[in-house]
Amino acid sequence: MSDLSRPQGPKIIAVANQKGGVGKTTTTINLAAALAESGARVLVIDLDPQGNASTGLGIEMEDREFTTYELLLEDIDLGSVILPTVTPNLMIVPATVDLSSADLELMSNEKRSFLLHDALRQTRMDDFNLDYILIDCPPSLNLLTVNAMIAAHSVLVPLQSEFFALEGLSQLMLTIREVRQTGNKNLRIEGVLLTMFDQRNNLSTLVEQDARDNLGELVFETRIPRNVRVSEAPSYAMPVLTYDTASKGAQAYRALAQEIMHKNKAKVA
Ligand code: ADP
Ligand code: MG
Repeated sequence: MSDLSRPQGPKIIAVANQKGGVGKTTTTINLAAALAESGARVLVIDLDPQGNASTGLGIEMEDREFTTYELLLEDIDLGSVILPTVTPNLMIVPATVDLSSADLELMSNEKRSFLLHDALRQTRMDDFNLDYILIDCPPSLNLLTVNAMIAAHSVLVPLQSEFFALEGLSQLMLTIREVRQTGNKNLRIEGVLLTMFDQRNNLSTLVEQDARDNLGELVFETRIPRNVRVSEAPSYAMPVLTYDTASKGAQAYRALAQEIMHKNKAKVA
């Protein structure tokens, strides 16, 4: 699993949308699992104080001694904060509610927007031999999300297939433009992902039409269907790929992983 377009290390993707409940965490967990399943080495960074990605990947509260908070604000190396998960090749830096104070604490820090960027470019990074890093952002365009966007090569935007879905996007795009101007000029949009898609629902089809008309090729071909197995998996502390490997949800996240891997290969040519 190597990608010649980035010989210097893993591809870093921030999963972001300031709206809550659109499928950021679900996508982070299951895309990560699908990439890992196809042989990539993947690290998830839980950047949401709610810690849902950590819980969904089976990290118990008592095992969250060192977290994203320490990675950002204390001088702790990546090796001390990375935990294995039940999925082979899939690791995580967990989060706890401690991270909710980080946004304020970052304000007074001179390098406030670059802390995650710097933490992910430590010299020891090579030891982990990672192919992908996925960052699960909080439902806000705060300093934590800006840290993710400064650290990342691209942003993946989950879009829930419901009314007003596209309304919040202009604010998100504005933030991406600001980040390009202030510290990460090469930040790309990995793609916009239609989540909780219901083929029988007119509204889903309308949102898709609207998104494809307005955003064109930025919208992934893959759509993630609304699937009860996807929503059940976190309470069993595992990705849907493990919980119900043949489910529609699992298959969709595998298709998304393929689409992303092909896209990134295509850029080399
Ligand atoms: P966010 O991280 O953006 O707040 P989540 O990933 O936590 O959003 O998803 C919000 C809720 O929707 C969760 O309860 C999750 O289980 C559910 N959900 C997400 N994707 C799907 C899906 N494809 N099918 C069914 N439920 C889903
Ligand atoms: Mg979330």
